[in-house]
Amino acid sequence: MEKAKPVPGCGHCDIPGKEQRCRTGRGKAPANCPTVHYRDMAQDVFDSFLPQEKEFLRQSAFQERDGYYWRPDFCDTMPVKPRIVEIVEFARRMRYKKLGFIFCGGLRAEASVVQEILETNSFLVVSAACKVGRQPKSSFGVPREMQLNPLQEEETICNPKLQAMIMNEAQVDFNIMMGLCVGHDSVALKNLEAPVSILAVKDRVTGHNPLMPVYLYDSYYAYLKKALP
Ligand code: SF4
Repeated sequence: MEKAKPVPGCGHCDIPGKEQRCRTGRGKAPANCPTVHYRDMAQDVFDSFLPQEKEFLRQSAFQERDGYYWRPDFCDTMPVKPRIVEIVEFARRMRYKKLGFIFCGGLRAEASVVQEILETNSFLVVSAACKVGRQPKSSFGVPREMQLNPLQEEETICNPKLQAMIMNEAQVDFNIMMGLCVGHDSVALKNLEAPVSILAVKDRVTGHNPLMPVYLYDSYYAYLKKALP
C-alpha cells in the first residue's frame, strides 16, 4: 500500500525564499513539502498542459518579468506596474479583443473608471453589475429581516451566475472581476467559461485591502490570534 503523503503545508514553510526546494532543485524542504511528495503529480500535470495553456503561462511569465525593472547597478529588480496596467498589457499580449467586466454595484464609480481605461486601450468591454437581472432576495428564501435594510420592501440579490452567463453568451476572450462579495465571487468563478483575472476584491472595512489585518496582525488585529467566536 502506498504510504500516505503528509498534508501539504507551504503556509508554514520557514525556509528562506531563495533556498526553498520549489525555487531551486538543490534547495531545502520541510517534511511536508509538496514539491518533494508530489513529484509524480507535478510531472503528470506538466504532461497534461494543452498548448494554449502553456502559451497562457508563458505569456504570464513575460508579463511578470515586465512588471519589474532590472537595475544592473543594483543587481536587483524594482516593481514598476500597477495591476490594472498589467491586466491591459496581458490582454494585449494574448491578443484579446473582447473583455468581460464583472463588478459589484458597490464599486460603481470605480467600475466606470476601469471600463474607461479598458476602452481607452481599444478593448470591446462587456460589463455586468452584481444586481443584474433584478432577482428579489425573497425568491432565494432570504427573509426581510436579513435584508441590508429590513425597512425596504424588497432588495435585489446579487446574481453572479447571471453575470457569468452574460459573459459566456457574449463569448468574451477574458474576464476581469472587481469587488464581488465573498461567495458571489465563487459562483462567478465556477460559471465563467473564459479565463478570469481579479483586479480587486471587496473588503468593506479596509478600502478593499484585505491584507491590512494581516499586516497589522501584531497590533490592531491581534484579536485574530484567537478563533473568532
Ligand atoms: S513547496 Fe516546499 S519548499 Fe516550497 S514553499 Fe512549499 S514547503 Fe516550502
